[in-house]
Amino acid sequence: MHIDLTGEVAVVTGVLGRLGPVWARALLDAGARVVGLDLAETASRRLEEALAGGDRERFTLVGADITDRGALDGALRRCVSVAGAPTILVNNAGIDQPPSADGQSRLFGDLPDAPSAEVLEVNALGTLRVCQVFGSHMASRGRGSIVNIGSLYGGLAPDPRLYAHLPMDPPFLKPPAYGMSKAGVAALSRYLAALWGPHGVRVNTLSPGGVLGEQDEIFRERFSARTPLGRMALRGDLTGPLLFLASGMSAYVTGTELLVDGGYGCW
Ligand code: NAD
Repeated sequence: MHIDLTGEVAVVTGVLGRLGPVWARALLDAGARVVGLDLAETASRRLEEALAGGDRERFTLVGADITDRGALDGALRRCVSVAGAPTILVNNAGIDQPPSADGQSRLFGDLPDAPSAEVLEVNALGTLRVCQVFGSHMASRGRGSIVNIGSLYGGLAPDPRLYAHLPMDPPFLKPPAYGMSKAGVAALSRYLAALWGPHGVRVNTLSPGGVLGEQDEIFRERFSARTPLGRMALRGDLTGPLLFLASGMSAYVTGTELLVDGGYGCW
């Protein structure tokens, strides 16, 4: 079924990462104008890559750090002037950095604070700030759909058996702050769904499972074996769920979390 988003203005944060271009491409293909946000330094360097496939007319890249309220206010002004008032927001920017690259310490009690604080700052508070700026604008105009990108790990702990062959244990390889931040994103979606439902803005969470990428072969095999559908997600598996949540196809859906995880959480 074709979803037509002609006339919509979609904002995608973290547009230059692995999944950002997937969301942007799907929205462009459905006819929307897309304003992509990413860190200023990566924005200029990877501009051409982001635009690969054409659509220079309907795609605009804006450099903005989602932890910087002033930069987001400027990005909203730019969005309105070049593309129009935002009607779709995909909060995709996020980080998942191991707090220690040396792999020396293996104890949960040794996790340093700073990397956890950074993950929470970007993933949870950054998403909150983008909603404050772009979502408030949508609510003031009485229309919009916000899709916050969560994660399987917002609801489930990383299975240590999947990481047992790697040099670091899960507390360092998959720090708890990541799951904490993504659980927070889902909570934020519910909060804003309640706040903005009467103002015509729907807010949902799309939570991917493991997406096939640069993982090593052993991890891929273990992850696939643990997944009822028998494989990791392909990027194309994510576009239908995004377009469903972004469009009027989900007109009566708000405050929910759509897991796109091949059934990983079933057992
Ligand atoms: P990625 O690291 O490839 O891309 C993230 C993008 O966000 C980068 O372009 C980065 O520059 C940008 N970014 C980071 N901090 C920013 C900030 N402060 N301001 C603006 N932009 C910032 O990540 P990804 O794999 O594309 O993941 C995208 C989203 O999907 C993330 O929220 C991630 O948690 C979630 N997710 C990914 C997977 C996966 O397997 N790839 C699985 C589940 C959930």
